[in-house]
Amino acid sequence: MTRPTLAVSGALATALLLTACGSDGASAGDDGRLSVVTGFYPLEYAAERVVGDVPGVTVETLTSPGTDAHDLELSPRQVGAVQDADLVIFSAGMQAAVDAAVAEQAPDRSLDVTSVVALAETGDDHEDHGDHDHEDHDGHDHEGHDHEGHDHDGHDHGPLDPHFWLDPERYAAAGAAIAEELAAIDPVNAEDYLANAEAFSQDLDELDAEFREGLASCEHDTMVTTHEAFGYLADRYGLHQVGITGITPEAEASPARMAEITREVEALAVPAIYAQSTLGGDLAEVIGRETGTQVLVLDPIEGLTDASAGNDYFQVMRANLEALRQGQVCS
Ligand SMILES: [Zn+2]
Repeated sequence: MTRPTLAVSGALATALLLTACGSDGASAGDDGRLSVVTGFYPLEYAAERVVGDVPGVTVETLTSPGTDAHDLELSPRQVGAVQDADLVIFSAGMQAAVDAAVAEQAPDRSLDVTSVVALAETGDDHEDHGDHDHEDHDGHDHEGHDHEGHDHDGHDHGPLDPHFWLDPERYAAAGAAIAEELAAIDPVNAEDYLANAEAFSQDLDELDAEFREGLASCEHDTMVTTHEAFGYLADRYGLHQVGITGITPEAEASPARMAEITREVEALAVPAIYAQSTLGGDLAEVIGRETGTQVLVLDPIEGLTDASAGNDYFQVMRANLEALRQGQVCS
């Protein structure tokens, strides 16, 4: 008679313990683990930094290495991961497929970082070149490739610049918001999450100081990029971004548009222009050849690959700083 009673008590105790652990309802999963799903690398990295050594928390990203974060489509398995996640961290307006999956599968278990990070409209630089970009992209989007046109549309013509992680201060704000969210879901480890976010923020402060110092005295303040991802960075460190293709990661340009870009770059007389990776196929390489301008890599860090100039955000940002110091001729 005692055995079954004990067994019941044990089960009750377990249930009470789980309840006492405080995860509200669906969170923390049936397995006692916490599954965090993120949209793309900078969100994944921030979540990993905030989670740190807290056991039983998994962090995954929906954007696999080498795929364009802006151009993401989700597999059924990934939609399942969103459905099963305890927390989905995403950046509304950046990845339409993730926005849709969150809205359908996880509206109550999600953190939209754009709700806490102040996004700005794309800068004046973009507006200056807006006429050309707009014509060109419209032609591209409507005439051709529906698939690409659709994805680029979501990004190009969005009113806000999504590339907040290239600004250390905005990125730290995202880290703090992730910590608050995790602390609410998993209060037992709240102190760890908040302390880890603070350490992340301090690392970002250091990075910010290095950029500030490294870019304090440069011969050129106009930076020519292909993917116009560096508006926040440019604003922060006194540079002036000119995007070759507007805010699209990759865009095809007509021969006429290429000739026009070539003339623009020649007129700017910059010592270097920036491609977004060493993977090739970047318009900067073509423009560089046409104009005899040096091409350096400035990585928007939307994902890491073997070709990335480092193994994490900070390493690639420091490589970006070196590229900028060389390309803008900073002392
Ligand atoms: Zn981008």
